[in-house]
Amino acid sequence: MLRRSALALLAVALSGPAFAQAYPTKPITLIVPFAAGGPTDLMARIVGERMSKELGQQFIIDNVTGAAGSIAMGKLAHAAPDGYTIGIGHLGTNVVNGIIYKNLNYDLLNDLVPIARLPSNPLLVVTSNQVPAKDLKELVAYLKANADKVSGGTAGLGSASHIGALAFNAVTGTNYQLVPYRGTGPAVQDLIANQIQIMIDQSSNSLPHVRAGKIRAYAVTSKERSTAAPDIPTAAEAGFPGIEVVIWHGLWAPKGTPPEIIARLNAAAVAALQDPEIRRKLEDLGQDIPTPEQMQPAAFGAFQRAEFAKWKPIIEKANVKVE
Ligand code: ASP
Repeated sequence: MLRRSALALLAVALSGPAFAQAYPTKPITLIVPFAAGGPTDLMARIVGERMSKELGQQFIIDNVTGAAGSIAMGKLAHAAPDGYTIGIGHLGTNVVNGIIYKNLNYDLLNDLVPIARLPSNPLLVVTSNQVPAKDLKELVAYLKANADKVSGGTAGLGSASHIGALAFNAVTGTNYQLVPYRGTGPAVQDLIANQIQIMIDQSSNSLPHVRAGKIRAYAVTSKERSTAAPDIPTAAEAGFPGIEVVIWHGLWAPKGTPPEIIARLNAAAVAALQDPEIRRKLEDLGQDIPTPEQMQPAAFGAFQRAEFAKWKPIIEKANVKVE
């Protein structure tokens, strides 16, 4: 009897605040839902590396690709809720996938708990240098005249680049063929090589290639111009108001992860985004950095749910069919 209650006490001690204080005692796996070299992977590496310093443990990046991040979020939802497996995602993986994929083996909003909101960036309308259009109006005319020849890259149905393509096509009346990739890192390489002709891609992924003259940018999907690329007009300025998409990122853990551990991870993420070097790197890629208040788990959870409510009718109207 005594032995049993001693064991019970030990179990309480191991799961309670004392255990959380010791956390982390081993490396933390960070699941990334897209291919290495793309924008989500880049965010994971920049922020994860700084968080790992803060926590005194290594971060192991696990790229789990496929179905626009829904396989990765399933793996995260079913991982042990002990703080040693966390995941990064964005508007696509953690909102839109819950609307378009009907057979997920997890509940996107309830089986994952928010750790911290991470930066947001707009999308850029970019094409290969072979596309003969000087501005967005010419590009739209070109896409309409060459609908059967042009293809565009996305990171799968529900990804950020797919949401961008949906918004772009809805406003401009274009309808080019979409080619799914395991991430927009590989897709932008094919854009440079003109294997595909267009992408509506996160600025953090495309902007370095635009600056290097390897691809061409026509518009940014934010309300205001991006301070990282002040020469690129907004879609509204370029003649097509209504293409407004900003892709925010975040960190989540499996439901049941102790709140003390979530708080520890949140504090590490907040510290990472206060680091001037990290801020400079991210801002140079067109990322807007959330305030520490916006980054809090409860505020971020409320934001995610508000985004779900905002995007549900838009995505349902777009009638995306997932095979
Ligand atoms: N975030 C990108 C997208 O959803 C994919 C990636 O990170 O590679 O389009």
